[in-house]
Amino acid sequence: MNTIGHLINGEIINDHSRTQDVFNPATGEVSKEVALASKQTMEQAIGAAEAAFPAWRNTPPIKRARIMFRFKELLEKNADAICKLLGEEHGKISHDAAGELQRGIENVEFACGAPELLKGEHSKNVGPNIDSWSEFQPLGVVAGITPFNFPAMVPLWMFPLAIVCGNTFILKPSERNPSGPLLIAQLLKEAGLPDGVLNVVNGDKEAVDVLLSDHRIKAVSFVGSTPIAEHIYAKASANGKRCQALGGAKNHAIIMPDADMDNAVNQLLGAAFGSCGERCMALSVAVAVGEDAGDALVEKMTEAMKGLKVGEFSNASNDFGPLISKQHKEKVIGYINSAEKDGAKIVVDGRHAVVEGFTNGFFVGATLIDNVNIDMISYQEEIFGPVLQVVRVKTMQEAMKLIDDHEYGNGTCIFTRDGEAARYFSDNIQVGMVGINVPLPVPVAYHSFGGWKRSLFGDLHAYGPDGVRFYTKRKTITQRWPSSGVREGVSFSFPS
Ligand code: NAD
Repeated sequence: MNTIGHLINGEIINDHSRTQDVFNPATGEVSKEVALASKQTMEQAIGAAEAAFPAWRNTPPIKRARIMFRFKELLEKNADAICKLLGEEHGKISHDAAGELQRGIENVEFACGAPELLKGEHSKNVGPNIDSWSEFQPLGVVAGITPFNFPAMVPLWMFPLAIVCGNTFILKPSERNPSGPLLIAQLLKEAGLPDGVLNVVNGDKEAVDVLLSDHRIKAVSFVGSTPIAEHIYAKASANGKRCQALGGAKNHAIIMPDADMDNAVNQLLGAAFGSCGERCMALSVAVAVGEDAGDALVEKMTEAMKGLKVGEFSNASNDFGPLISKQHKEKVIGYINSAEKDGAKIVVDGRHAVVEGFTNGFFVGATLIDNVNIDMISYQEEIFGPVLQVVRVKTMQEAMKLIDDHEYGNGTCIFTRDGEAARYFSDNIQVGMVGINVPLPVPVAYHSFGGWKRSLFGDLHAYGPDGVRFYTKRKTITQRWPSSGVREGVSFSFPS
C-alpha cells in the first residue's frame, strides 16, 4: 500500500507509527494510506522551520519572489498531475479541479509582488531632523491547517504569501486528501525554496495540538468547519498566537421578483451543485421573494436539474462528483430525510443516485427541496452536499432578516435587475462576501477572503492585503540625525 509521508527539511519522511486510510470517493475503495505525524515528527518539522527562519528572513524579498515565479510555472506545467490527484482523492471533476488550481495559482501570482507588498511606509521630517517609518517584519514559524474540500487552493491561500513575507511554514493539510498538497510542496522545493522553509506534516488532532501549543509557532491560519475553527482560535489565542480561523457557512441567494430567472437558475445550478456542494461558498438556500418568483424558480430548476450529470472525475462531461466519504454521504442524506420529515417538499430527490460502474461510490444526486422554513435542522445547519433548499418569503426585508439572523455569514448573493435594491442589499447585509448577480463571490487574490459572524474567528481575512498584514508584524522606527552642532536640550514634556 502506498503511504503518503511528510515533507520535512526538504525530505520525504515516513513515520508509520499511525496511519489512516485514504479513499477514492468514486469507487468507495481505499487507495492509499497517510502517515499521521507523531509528536516526534512534529518536533522535527518545527525544528526544521525554526532553523530555516534566520537565513530566510534575511533573504531579499525579490529573491523570495523569484522562487514564486518559478513555482507558478511549475504549477502550470504539472497542473494535470495535480488535478488527477485531486480527482482521485477528493472526487472533483477535472474541470472543477483545474478551476480550483487556477484560483490557487492566482495567490502565487499575488505573492510574486512581495517587494512591492513589503515596502512599508515612510514619513520624512515628523519632527526637527526626525524621520519615521514602518516596516513589516516576518513573524517566524507559522502554521496552516486546511480542509479537504480545496486541497490545492486553500493551502495556496496561505503558504506562498506567508513565505514571501519572510516566514517559514508548516502546512497540515486534510488527512483525507493529502497527495495534492504534498506534490505542490515538492514543486516549491523544485522551484528553489531552501529546505525547511516549507514543511508539510500529515496528521490529525494530535499534530494540530502540537502546533497550537508549541511556543515556536507564532501564528496559525485555519480553514475548516466552525466547531473546529472556534476551538483552534480559542486555543491558539490563549497560547499567545495570532490566529485567523475560517469556518463553515450557509449561503443564501435572494431571488427577487424582477430577476432574470433563466440566468438565476443557470447560476444557481453551478453554485449549489458544483463540487457536489462541498464548497464553503456554495449557495445552499434560495430565498424567493413572492409566490410567483418561488413557483417560477422551482419549476425552472426542476427542469434544468434533469440534465445534471454526477459521476467520476476523469469524465469531463460530468458536472460534479461524489461526496468525500461514506459517513458524509449518510449525513447529507440524513438532512434530506429530516427536511422531508419536518414537512418540506422534496422536489428533486438525489438520495438514490446510481452511477454506472461506480456502485460503491459516495454519490448523492442533485436535490431540490421546497417549502423549507427556518425551524428545520436542514435550514439551520451546514449540509455541505448537493442540496438546494427553497425558502419562500413575501418581501426583500424578510429575506434579508433571514440571512442576518443566521449564525453563518460567509457569502450571499442577490439576483435582481434593480440597482437600488442591489445597493441596499450590499450596504446592509451582515455577510462578509456579497454577490450581485454573481453566485460565488469568492474574492480575487488581490482582495481578501473572509466571512462574518461564525464563519470567521479573528480580525484579518485570508490572503490578499489582509494576508500580508496577518503574516507580518509592524515595526515603527523613529530616527534622528542631528545637524552638526545642533544639540537638543533637556525636556520633561511629552514630545510633540
Ligand atoms: P474540518 O474542520 O473537519 O477539518 C479541517 C482541518 O482541521 C483538517 O486539517 C483536520 O485534520 C483538522 N481537524 C479536524 N478535527 C480536528 C480537531 N478535533 N482538532 C484539531 N484539528 C482538527 O473540516 P473539513 O471537513 O475538512 O472541511 C469542510 C469544512 O470546512 C466545511 O465546514 C466548510 O464550510 C469549511 N470551509 C470553510 C472555508 C472558508 O473559507 N470559510 C473554506 C473551505 C472549507
